[in-house]
Amino acid sequence: MSDRHIDTAAVHAGRLEIPTNAPSSPPLFQASSYEFADLAEVAAIYGGEANGKIYGRYGGPNGTQLERAIAELEGAEAAVGAAAGMSAIDAALAATLGQGGVIVATAEVYGGTYTLLENDYRKAAFDVHYVDQQDLSAVLASLGRHRPKVLYLEALTNPLMHVADLPALCALGHEAGATVIVDATFATPALVRPIEHGADLVAHSVGKYIGGHGDVGAGILAGKADLVERARAYLVRKGATLPHFEAWLALRGLRTLALRMARHSSNALAVASHLAAEPAVERVHHPSRPDHAQYDLAAKLYPRGTGGIVAFDLAGGEPAVDRFLRDLQTIAIVHSLGEVATTISYPSVSSHRNVPAEMRRALGVSAGTLRISAGIEDPGDITRDLSRAFAGLGERARA
Ligand code: PLP
Repeated sequence: MSDRHIDTAAVHAGRLEIPTNAPSSPPLFQASSYEFADLAEVAAIYGGEANGKIYGRYGGPNGTQLERAIAELEGAEAAVGAAAGMSAIDAALAATLGQGGVIVATAEVYGGTYTLLENDYRKAAFDVHYVDQQDLSAVLASLGRHRPKVLYLEALTNPLMHVADLPALCALGHEAGATVIVDATFATPALVRPIEHGADLVAHSVGKYIGGHGDVGAGILAGKADLVERARAYLVRKGATLPHFEAWLALRGLRTLALRMARHSSNALAVASHLAAEPAVERVHHPSRPDHAQYDLAAKLYPRGTGGIVAFDLAGGEPAVDRFLRDLQTIAIVHSLGEVATTISYPSVSSHRNVPAEMRRALGVSAGTLRISAGIEDPGDITRDLSRAFAGLGERARA
């Protein structure tokens, strides 16, 4: 029986036994701080000679495990987790640019990244230029004219699923002396590994396919060790590091990534074929369909499929979109993607809300463009739900 007062015993009682044999699945280390035996241990852990942890914001064991897993899957020297995909992207830019410089980014950049570039980087006197990443001669010209420190690409673009020719674009970027950063959120390392094609850094919004279940908010950056460590220091300074529970959940999702991506890809193709046969659909955008302008490139770079996103242009603009969305029963309107459930979004009011209307039009995102994120359900149930909504449009036209 302890002679400690209950007030003290309640705080200290019950020593944690860390088992000597490894658990078969990762335990959650939710601790926000760690103890040191003496000053020698403080010095060893801060100095990196001993394998210890210090404080939540500097990273915990679950984050380290996720980082190692992603580095391995991406074929990267190192990886660092972040609080969100946007923090990972911000850290990638900050680590590469330093005090100033020029960014050349794909004109189809994700809406949040566009806002970051415009609101933060341009306002901080960085020079930002956009280029059509499909047009290699335009990219070459832009690189020659602007001599950027960063060439920023997206592996598969949102929402129209244009395919970045990663080997060609990385080579052009490097010849111009730029660091190449690729957002591969839509692709994941299950489908493409940008570092194998020359990228210096790869960023992901982990809450999409890597987490996979719509319950994670996190980001990750993988690539050259020196850049990753600069990004880590930036994230620690900004307090934008990866929370432990998010890392634990993301790793759990990652275990089924390859299986899910195969199913997302086959379901997306089934959805795309179904849409192509609908009279109310003006155009389907999916790179695994032979009518996609980059079908051959997609087949070469993505032999295991191109993932779960399908965009299509619905005739009739916003009124038709509104009616169509209301008639869906299984497919929910969700402003995210990559979940096990099939979801739909209307880019004009979601991802592209802050993109000026004329730029949206130039990108090919019209008032009728919808984006489906095909889940892992039975494909017949997904296409039946779509048929029901198309039938509703037909009834309206007849009324
Ligand atoms: N990149 C892409 C392609 C995205 O779709 C998103 C979010 O939708 C992000 C980056 C930003 O990620 P997060 O929302 O985790 O900050």
